[in-house]
Amino acid sequence: MDKHPDSNSLSYSGYCNTCNKIHSLPSEKAIAHCIKLMQQLQADCRLDLDTPLEKADERLSTKHLYTEIGGEMLGVLVCEDTLGNEVILRAFSSTHNCVWNVSGWVPHIANEEKYMKIVNEGNQEIHPLTELLPTLKKGSIQWLEKTLERKLISQKVLAKLYALYEITNFKNEKRSLTDAFNIKKGIPNGTGDCCAPKLLNHAAKNNLKPISIAEFYWGKGSGSKVEGEFYSSCSDKCQPLLGFMLCGSSEN
Ligand SMILES: [Zn+2]
Ligand SMILES: [Zn+2]
Repeated sequence: MDKHPDSNSLSYSGYCNTCNKIHSLPSEKAIAHCIKLMQQLQADCRLDLDTPLEKADERLSTKHLYTEIGGEMLGVLVCEDTLGNEVILRAFSSTHNCVWNVSGWVPHIANEEKYMKIVNEGNQEIHPLTELLPTLKKGSIQWLEKTLERKLISQKVLAKLYALYEITNFKNEKRSLTDAFNIKKGIPNGTGDCCAPKLLNHAAKNNLKPISIAEFYWGKGSGSKVEGEFYSSCSDKCQPLLGFMLCGSSEN
């Protein structure tokens, strides 16, 4: 873990429609905290770092990240509270081994219980159609009707899920995921689940001023991702959100 990345090559930024400019956060301070976190993870091999070993939750072990499931992105946001004290926030992207929220890590933006209720209700509506469709003559009027019906239910379910993601920025403005996303085309699956939006939303809701952010990959390499390497926020899901999310984070 002796790699010291060039923090200038990392970018955590987005274009803000309100200010008509790009808002961004530097990485240097957060990188130092990420390196410390990597050392802890290497030593302890689990996310419940604040829990005594005998009470460790098996599901939170990092060994899952070295299987076919693959690694995950982890992130650190260095903040300052209203008294000027440094506060370090940590996040893992999406869920870890199906666990949504872990003590010592910022929570998921959406509420797990409400999310799963919508998913289960949606499945109950979609499942009969998925069973029925293969029994119908492909291309027949009934097949077309049922195909459309299934598509509409999926869209309705997605809209309900997106509505669970309320995003707060540093002017204490709140927007739905759809309104915060500044590209007016379909929102990619998993938007709002990366480390940066989780960290910034938690900071904004808790009156913490963001100072520095960095994200790194942890676990078995996949595609171009290498364990212990730092990556900028993703261009498809996060950059279109970060303009709104970072608004009000600095004076200029
Ligand atoms: Zn992202
Ligand atoms: Zn702005």
